[in-house]
Amino acid sequence: MRGDGFIIIEGVGKALSQSDETRSRPSSSEPIGAPGVVVLSPRHLELKKAFVEEAQATFGDGHDVARRDREGEFSRSLWRQCAELGILRWAVPVEHGGRGYDVLSTTVLMEALGYACRDNGLTFGLGVQTWGIQKTLLQFGTPAQVRGYLPGLMRGDLLGAYAINEEGSGSDAFGLDTTAAPEGEHFVLNGEKTYITFAPIADFAIVFAKTNPAAGRWGISAFVVDAQTPGFTAHPADSNMGLRTVPVGTLSFDGCRVPKANLLGKVGAGASIFNASQSWERSLVLAPQVGAMERQLEQSVALARSRKRNGIPIGKHQAVAHRIADMKLRLETARMLLYRTAWLRQTEQPHMMDAALTKIHLSEAFAESSRAAIAIHGGEGYTTDAQVERDLRDAIGATIYGGTGDIQRNIVAALLGL
Ligand SMILES: Cc1cc2nc3c(=O)[nH]c(=O)nc-3n(C[C@H](O)[C@H](O)[C@H](O)COP(=O)(O)OP(=O)(O)OC[C@H]3O[C@@H](n4cnc5c(N)ncnc54)[C@H](O)[C@@H]3O)c2cc1C
Repeated sequence: MRGDGFIIIEGVGKALSQSDETRSRPSSSEPIGAPGVVVLSPRHLELKKAFVEEAQATFGDGHDVARRDREGEFSRSLWRQCAELGILRWAVPVEHGGRGYDVLSTTVLMEALGYACRDNGLTFGLGVQTWGIQKTLLQFGTPAQVRGYLPGLMRGDLLGAYAINEEGSGSDAFGLDTTAAPEGEHFVLNGEKTYITFAPIADFAIVFAKTNPAAGRWGISAFVVDAQTPGFTAHPADSNMGLRTVPVGTLSFDGCRVPKANLLGKVGAGASIFNASQSWERSLVLAPQVGAMERQLEQSVALARSRKRNGIPIGKHQAVAHRIADMKLRLETARMLLYRTAWLRQTEQPHMMDAALTKIHLSEAFAESSRAAIAIHGGEGYTTDAQVERDLRDAIGATIYGGTGDIQRNIVAALLGL
């Protein structure tokens, strides 16, 4: 392992003007090879600051997010604005028309996005497209598949869904029942996928199905299936507790004939493709939540300083101050884990343990800090108008999708030899 993995830990908000105070410096006592305290370069910090300013101009007023959350509405126009901001090009190599940002830069920008944009559903959706769909196509797609879908994804014209989950499998991801039987120049898909992000409006889906049921996980293959294919049906969005501004629903395949050219990777490579793409998602999809936690912290500090009870600001009550200190602790530890995992990915070092820890900690930290923010806001925090409670509803989703916290803990325990 390499010993040069130092990243400056830096905030996207007020901390930008306090870089000397908040910057962690590499120490000569760092164990060789461990990324330890890692430091962002000035270039990363500039990128982050510039994007926060640009994104706040776009998302500053929340873009009607309270109403869209209430009505469960996805905004196509906002999605296109995100594409115009270049978000859907960040992680795509230059030769494919993308910005070609490295993993750490994209992660830092995603964090900045979560700080500037209060629509957690939207930022989750952007993460799914970036890490789940684009990266999977780039890593495993044929040139024709990449040419067919990537430009439209980057322009914000196309939306992809990533479909493995089924009613009867869930955490046992490879226990799926959907089949893909070879028939001439096609595979014929039959089965149903549940709780799929973007399902009701996706233009295509990456679908996992059994091509050889007797071979267990090695008998699973992945396909790129166009939503126009006869036998492909998308069902209306589930009414969810949170992340309501991005649709989640069911996909059915009933004698759906998919050309063999739409096979992603090789026959039987489905499990490897799933593991690779899950690793991206687990590591990085929660980056916007770190930015959201910083925004939440700033809002809570401002309130604790201005709201008075018993003639003094509520922040002078130790119970409130300690709640805020814990929010800061969760934010900083989440950021450190996220940057370290991004760095390990970027430098192609083993990161399975770090990815699982990142998924656990970021999802649970955001939920816990969202609860704290409601408590600090008192009765107001419980109203939907104040837009504080929405973060808690949104945060719970991340403890489930991409593998629940229990499944991530299974991974950590197994890697510890248990
Ligand atoms: C907002 C959202 C978006 C989603 N988007 C997608 C998507 O785009 N594509 C997709 O394919 N899926 C998606 N999912 C589905 C998601 O991946 C599954 O819901 C998740 O993997 C859990 O599966 P399950 O719901 O069947 O729960 P179950 O597997 O039935 O789990 C129920 C409970 O049992 C626990 N449990 C189960 N097995 C074990 C075990 N071995 N060890 C310890 N505990 C265990 C779980 O942790 C959980 O607490 C999404 C889900 C949500 C909530």
